[in-house]
Amino acid sequence: MSFAHHCTLKRPIDRGHPLNGKTVYLPVMGEGGSEVIAAIFRRLGVEAHVSPPSTRRTIELGGKATQGDECFPIKVVIGDLLQVAETPGFKPESTVYFLPTSDGPCRFGQYVPYLRKVLREVGYGQIEIISPSDGNSYGGLGSIVNVFTRMAWRGVVTSDSIHRLLLKTRPYETAPGAGERAYSESLQDLCQTIEASCDDMNCQLRSLAASLGRARDRFRAVPANYDGFTPLIGVVGEIFCRLNTFSNEDLVRRLESHGAEASLSHVAEWVGYTSFEQERLLRLSGRTISVEMLGAKLRNHIRRADEHALLAPLSGDLEGYEEPEIEEIIKLAWPYLPADGVVGEMVLSVGLVAWHAKHGADGVIDISPFACMNGTVSEAIYPKVSRDYGGIPVRSFYFDGTRSDLDRDLGVYLELARSYREKKPYPRTYPVCFRPPGGQDSAQHDTPPKPAAFPSPGRALHSPPKEATQE
Ligand code: SF4
Repeated sequence: MSFAHHCTLKRPIDRGHPLNGKTVYLPVMGEGGSEVIAAIFRRLGVEAHVSPPSTRRTIELGGKATQGDECFPIKVVIGDLLQVAETPGFKPESTVYFLPTSDGPCRFGQYVPYLRKVLREVGYGQIEIISPSDGNSYGGLGSIVNVFTRMAWRGVVTSDSIHRLLLKTRPYETAPGAGERAYSESLQDLCQTIEASCDDMNCQLRSLAASLGRARDRFRAVPANYDGFTPLIGVVGEIFCRLNTFSNEDLVRRLESHGAEASLSHVAEWVGYTSFEQERLLRLSGRTISVEMLGAKLRNHIRRADEHALLAPLSGDLEGYEEPEIEEIIKLAWPYLPADGVVGEMVLSVGLVAWHAKHGADGVIDISPFACMNGTVSEAIYPKVSRDYGGIPVRSFYFDGTRSDLDRDLGVYLELARSYREKKPYPRTYPVCFRPPGGQDSAQHDTPPKPAAFPSPGRALHSPPKEATQE
């Protein structure tokens, strides 16, 4: 099946480009997200692959090459790259590893220098690393930096969206595996659309929106019973561990097998946060009126316009599943972690607990690597946020690659979530598929399509917190 559309293709990199003749490998950052970024590289004329799925060998290799006190994500990243290096015919001199990082209050900003050091020590010092970050303006991409940056944002929005469609469909499917099939066809469609997309950015935008329209239709065709009784659990935490299913022992699928639905924080949220941080730092350094600030505002404006156009075909289907605005998350986190003095994922995780509670979720799970600074700080604050937002149950799960009794713990946690669900003060908004035949407006909110399953907002036992006093 070909989803290519008919526009002129051009190979943007020339012989002198630093990536010419190189093979780029990407870490697995969430289901589908890395495949889409690899497709963008290929569209730009660069051979690119996602690292093969992590295995126990990943932990073995990562463990041998590191000291033992590093954060778990870098161990997985190193193990995955060393697994690639074991492939017959591997050529370190023509290999480039693409590792998105960011500055921050923790070791995240040290990943690249540390990875370089480890690679030198294990004899692969020739492997190049390109590390797009807000600090270095995507250094290493040379002449394709602007087009790559814009396409990468579109790739993030589209891959996040089809994954959201999967998460909202799979718990309700009545034909096992139908949701996964719709997802893998949609991902393939998206990658092929990217690889065949035209040079003109508007034309490309239309083709990506059309691909999302086809994804919507595939998911609509999945036989499902949207019963309105399934608890909804927000999933927040450290970005790599949260999105990398190997690292988190596939927590989202396990949650679903326990009868819950997950609302997972995807990658777009982190991009929004880094833009917010960039503008804040410019203001702090007295550059409120500057070329840099103008550039940051313009990029933000273009990103939002692209996102709006791309998501138009999904508006009804993702009703109630909208990504939170970054400004709202930061505002909700402010009473606990004011973003003018605290930076990092802890701000997002804490703000998102409040956001999920306000939007009618039945619980929130934080996924973090063992001993993660962000996870530890967030965990200390969650009880207070939970008290302020109607008692929503929040539970942190830590991962380090060793076996845990995750299923037992999830089962216990979901009992708490189900009991909170009976008394939660905030209604949930459901998408159109939950509405009874004939569609009643009242079914847009937390009113079950089948009678008397859980309380209407009028039966809530708790009052919403006095947010005005906190914000
Ligand atoms: S966010 Fe956590 S796991 Fe990631 S580098 Fe920072 S401390 Fe380590």
